[in-house]
Amino acid sequence: MKILVTGGAGYIGSQVCKHLTAHGHDVIVYDNLSTGFRELARWGVFEYGDMLDEPRLRDCLRRHAPDGVIHFAALSQVGESVRNPGAYYRNNVGGAISLLSAMRAESVNLLVVSGTAAVYGQPDRMPITEDFPQSPLNPYGASKLFMERMLRDQAAAHGLNWVSLRYFNAAGSDPEGETGELHDPETHLIPRMFMAAAGQIPELELFGNDYPTPDGTCIRDYIHVEDLASAHRLALEYLAAGGESGAFNLGTGRGTSVKEALDAAARACGRQVPFRLAPRRPGDPAELVADPSKARAVLGWTPVHSDLDEIMRTAWAWFSRHRV
Ligand code: UDP
Repeated sequence: MKILVTGGAGYIGSQVCKHLTAHGHDVIVYDNLSTGFRELARWGVFEYGDMLDEPRLRDCLRRHAPDGVIHFAALSQVGESVRNPGAYYRNNVGGAISLLSAMRAESVNLLVVSGTAAVYGQPDRMPITEDFPQSPLNPYGASKLFMERMLRDQAAAHGLNWVSLRYFNAAGSDPEGETGELHDPETHLIPRMFMAAAGQIPELELFGNDYPTPDGTCIRDYIHVEDLASAHRLALEYLAAGGESGAFNLGTGRGTSVKEALDAAARACGRQVPFRLAPRRPGDPAELVADPSKARAVLGWTPVHSDLDEIMRTAWAWFSRHRV
């Protein structure tokens, strides 16, 4: 297939472009490089453009005539979304509006989007299945919830075929070291731990140890970015084969606390990770763990790189090569 990947110069998008290319698909990256990096867009054709620039997006679809779109281009930081909600609604909801409109105008009707576990807020039990109530705790999660709602409405009205992949915590880097996690500024736990281990920041701030979890720190379900990449390919192939539209959780089903992540990071880099206790970060739920059974059963997806030590090893390999 020929696939337009919005946000293909980002951490997950670039891994997906590499994976699709390796599986015989052609990719076109559409990215405004606001949070992505030109050097990560190493696979396929590169088109510079903004999601809010609908005429440009439409022109790009017309010229390349892709079979489908995978949509990543969005803002994705929980803390920033609490401080600056307007930017999240403008980019993430507005970007989805212009994408849907451009796709409809150019008769492209297969769409896989990056959703998020943040749409669930804090459910009262774990693990989370796709039919859990959705009540996001932060504007980031809300913006992705609205996007999904638009997909449903667009599908009912115009016959769009869509899949939303609700990621839990994307982690790790390309096992072959060709792309990896790069954010500026960096806010995510795993790279921040390595920054602390490498002396780039004095210590990791551990956001809260009074959560209702066994060790008091937040629990997340870390899923390797190459496992996310295979899910995107499977989802698009599933839609192309006539699969029913819907949302899928992508996680391992295993929760890891921030303290456990600190120990695993220290094992991977062979040094202690200095940290200090800091207040809770607004918008953070205590625990998010996926039930990934639906993706396994319907898409035939199995994570194979998401052992915590493999996640940390690949993340450290990328970090120590590119960020030290
Ligand atoms: N976290 C932390 N210190 C940091 C960054 C993150 O303690 O410098 C915690 C955060 O509160 C959350 C977990 O690590 O419980 C994962 O956060 P991240 O920002 O990586 O991903 P998110 O869960 O927000 O998508």
